[in-house]
Amino acid sequence: MAPLIYYKCAKCKMTYSSYENAERCENSHLSAVSVKELEYRYGVYPSRITLTFSDGVEWDYIFDDSFYMGNEVNHAYDKNKRNFEKHKST
Ligand SMILES: [Zn+2]
Repeated sequence: MAPLIYYKCAKCKMTYSSYENAERCENSHLSAVSVKELEYRYGVYPSRITLTFSDGVEWDYIFDDSFYMGNEVNHAYDKNKRNFEKHKST
């Protein structure tokens, strides 16, 4: 009985049948190079942040506590969607 060997990207958990493809996947994920705190709602941690990645693209993140609705969420969603569409086409 032959064992099945898979390689897993440590970052996104996708599995591949070759080490090279898993390594390529791991290397394709970008790390944030800077963080900008946009808002503190309560406590010591920010509720909204913008991360800038090594390719210069900014992504907005919102703490999901159901407190945010409407404008802030729509703004972050639209901005990230534009970045995603731009990234997909390059
Ligand atoms: Zn990956």
